[in-house]
Amino acid sequence: MRFDAVPMPSSVAARPQDSRGYPVPAITPWEGEEPQFALTDHGFSAACARERLCSVCGRVMPAGTVWRVVGATESAAIGEALAAGRPYRNLAPTLEGPGHRACMLYASMVCPYLARPNARRGLSAQQPDELTGHLVRGTVRGGTGAVVGFADYEYAITPSQVLFRFLAPVEFLPHTQSEEHLGLLRAELDRAAGPVQPR
Ligand SMILES: [Zn+2]
Repeated sequence: MRFDAVPMPSSVAARPQDSRGYPVPAITPWEGEEPQFALTDHGFSAACARERLCSVCGRVMPAGTVWRVVGATESAAIGEALAAGRPYRNLAPTLEGPGHRACMLYASMVCPYLARPNARRGLSAQQPDELTGHLVRGTVRGGTGAVVGFADYEYAITPSQVLFRFLAPVEFLPHTQSEEHLGLLRAELDRAAGPVQPR
């Protein structure tokens, strides 16, 4: 959907914008005046991991649940694990850091640049349909993806990459069309004590 039709968390509205008006996620590196949406800023990713900074807005995430947007493959795996009462952990690490609930609901709708910032240059372990699942709306079995809250995350910082693993899903919000999260995002933004606190 058009990104300007999605209500923007105030912390995202405070981000710099590219020439089209897209807010540029904190995780995105710049080359001169041009944000490099397909890349991940190593220094910020490391800070995100260590200091619990939201990969979208760059502000601190409170202790507790963190959120991320997952593609169709991972969404299906999480859904199956939850339905079977099994614990879930993504064994393939990802370059994508966590974020606030509002920021990830927003990112899931402002597709593809914010939702899958690393998809085009992801890890080899990442399935190709992680990207297409997000782009081909409503046609992929099991939904095109999900916004998922996890109780915790682990990370590893190497000289070239910051790798995340997410543990124990506590909120699972699958979607077949990203607009489905519009109501949830509005409700989240309306909550008096939202997850985004001023620093
Ligand atoms: Zn955020």
